[in-house]
Order: sequence, then structure tokens, then C-alpha cells
Amino acid sequence: MIVVPLGIASATPTAIRHLPAVALWREGSVYLFDCGENAQMSMLQAGLKRSKIDCIFISHFDVDHYSGLMGLISTLQLQRRERDLTLVGPTGIKEFVEWNLKFSGVELSFKLIFSEVKEGEDVTRVVDKADYYVEARPLKHRRFCLGYRFQEKDKPGKVDSEKAIKLGITEDDQFKALKAGENIKLEDGTEIEAYEIVGHQRPGDSFAYVTDTEYCPNAVKLAMNTNILYHEATFSNQLADKAKETGHSTAGDAARVATEAQTKLLVIGHFSARYTNLHVLLKEAREGFYPTWLANELRPIFTDPAHERGIISAKVEIKDLTKSESSGSSYSPGRRDSRGSSSRGQSRGGKNFRPRRNSGGYRSDNRDNRSGGSSSRDDRGGSFNRDNRGGSDRSNTGERRSYGSSSYNRERGRDDSSNDTKPTKIITPRTSYDDFDRF
Ligand SMILES: [Zn+2]
Repeated sequence: MIVVPLGIASATPTAIRHLPAVALWREGSVYLFDCGENAQMSMLQAGLKRSKIDCIFISHFDVDHYSGLMGLISTLQLQRRERDLTLVGPTGIKEFVEWNLKFSGVELSFKLIFSEVKEGEDVTRVVDKADYYVEARPLKHRRFCLGYRFQEKDKPGKVDSEKAIKLGITEDDQFKALKAGENIKLEDGTEIEAYEIVGHQRPGDSFAYVTDTEYCPNAVKLAMNTNILYHEATFSNQLADKAKETGHSTAGDAARVATEAQTKLLVIGHFSARYTNLHVLLKEAREGFYPTWLANELRPIFTDPAHERGIISAKVEIKDLTKSESSGSSYSPGRRDSRGSSSRGQSRGGKNFRPRRNSGGYRSDNRDNRSGGSSSRDDRGGSFNRDNRGGSDRSNTGERRSYGSSSYNRERGRDDSSNDTKPTKIITPRTSYDDFDRF
């Protein structure tokens, strides 16, 4: 499973933080937790298809948590969606959506399935499918608010295919039956028991979404032993009074829930607009629970970090400047590679870019002052930061300049580069949103 924060602000969005929404990707389907304004645009930027949304879970009816819902439903209608869409939330969500549709005179081409949770229920299984379920529990906020836990059911053990083939099992149906725990009979009459071929069941991954709440035992129950807990940390510990007054958590509260629930990874979000430097919150949370990350819009978090390598391929080649052949720059966007121009071996005078000049003309670019900045960032970060986001400004500048310099290079030809002697700093390019569909 992959968790992608789409909006990490609290009630007031800022220039770089959007209203609450978190997407969960699993086996090709997307589950949306809260749907603040801008959630659907952020999905596009994250490379998540809106048509893949299976369920939307709304925590409560503070406007910032559902203000993007009608817009998203409208988009799905314009896309001529046919598949059912499940909407989960506190009682009232059906009335809200149906009233809006009626008001606008929209007749949907797909069916909405509502799952409403009444106040007073302790735990409700709001979705129950063959391989996963989602449960909701009430949290402690100023108004009725739900937290969610998405739990994969235990997965069948791994099949020892070598052993199976030795025993003469070849048909897909036979493998399927064994995986389902059934014994099979081969043509020659030998009976094969499932446990001979199939290993132990593997526990499913889990994700908890807990936002807009003070510390409460239900938050701990939802988060118990999860792979990832997404918990709000609206305020710093210093504003604990304010947190209590408004029904929110401090970074310390989030850490407390994570510790008691023994989650593997705590991701904090839903930050008050007053914090421009979120590391204050991160530091406080880490004092209570070290494996804590700051939610970063569009930056995916994997329940199993090993999956990360398979899905995301490097967009750039990072060259180690401490190695000897460092006299030329050597990055190249992956797309260029696919057109057959390898990034290695053409670092000097190559077509794609021009190694940096020490001196001489072309002052207008003023590039010496602006170079670097992104060289220490990994390629993953470079690919997912969006424009005008905090912390990525420099890299974006770097990227634009790098493409600029490549065309500049084409105009100037090879002569220019022959002057270069100094190593060039690596600039990490970012993939444009339009071209990629990551999940
Ligand atoms: Zn909120």
C-alpha cells in the first residue's frame, strides 16, 4: 500500500499547504480519506487517477474536510464513470450529497453507495471486502468525528513453485486451490496437501487515519500495530491549551498515540497555518516517538519500503563527484535515455546540456549564483515536489534552468563546452506532471 498526503493543512490553507486529504493506493485502487478543496487536482499531480477511486471516507463535517467532495463527484460524472462509488462518513453525508446533486440538477451515470455511521456506535465495519476491511471509530472532537483503519486481511503464504513443479503440479487451477488452502489430487492419484507447498499466512498491511481529535483511547485502538498511522498534529506542545480548547492534538499527543499503539511509522499532518517551520512539530513528535515523519504533500509513503524500489525508477542518474571522472556533468532525465541518448559518455559537449562555464559571456543567466541547491536531494524527492511548494523552490529553479541550458547548449554547439574545466554541480530535473502516471 502507498499513502500519498494530498493536503496537509488544517482549516486554513496556506500558499504551500492544501486542505486535508490523504490518498491510499492499493492494488490499483485508490481510497480517499477526507476530501478537502483541491484534493482532485492534487491527485492529478501525484499521478493518481481519479477514476480509480473506490471509496471516499469523510471524517467529519468541518468544511475543510469535505469541501472538495462535490467537485470530485462532478469530475467523475464528466468522465462518464460507470463503476459504483462508496461514500463513507457520519450520518448526513447522504443527505448532503443528494441535496447538492438535486440542487445542480445532476443525474449521475454511476451509483453512489452510502455507508453512514451513527453517533454512539463504538466501532463500525464500514467496508468489508474479500481481502481488506475498513473500520471506523468515533474520536474526540468538538463535533462527531470518525477515525478510520484500513486493514488488509491476512494474505496466503508464498507458494514454493520449485517444489510444486517437482511434484508435478502444473495447472493454474491447482496453484489457485493450493493457495486457497485446499488439498488437490493429481492425475496419478497422489494427494497433495496445501501446507506442503504453501508457506505460512502473511499478515496484511494496515493504515490508520486519525485527524481532528484530542488524545483518546479510540485513536490508539485504530492505530494498534499499524504499518502507518497518519495522525494530526495541529499544534506544538506549547499550545496544548489551545489544542484542548479546539479539540485537536499536539505533536506530543500524536507521539503518545503512536507509542501506545506501537505503530511502525507515525506520519503527522493537519498543521496549523501558524507554523512555517514544521520541524518544530517534527522535533516534538520525535521526542515521544522516534519513527515519525512529516507528511509532505504528494510524497508517497510505502507500507513496505521494499516496494518502493520496484515502482519508482530513477529519473536521473546521480554521479558521484568524489569519483575521478568528475570533470563533466552527467545527469540526464530518464526520458532522454529512452530516446537512445545515454547520459553517460556524453557529458562533455553532449546534446542535452552544457557543462558549466567558469567565466565569459552569457551573464544574463546569472547561473553561477543559482546553481546547486538540489544536488543533495534524492531523485525521489525531486520527482514529487510540485511547483511553488516550500522547500522545492530551489530545485524547480534548478530544473527550469537546466532545460534552458540544454537548449542554450544546442544553440552554442560544442565549442563552448571545450572551455570547461571545473566539475559541474548536479541538478536534479523534475518530471512534468502531464507525462507521468505513477500508480
Ligand atoms: Zn480539520
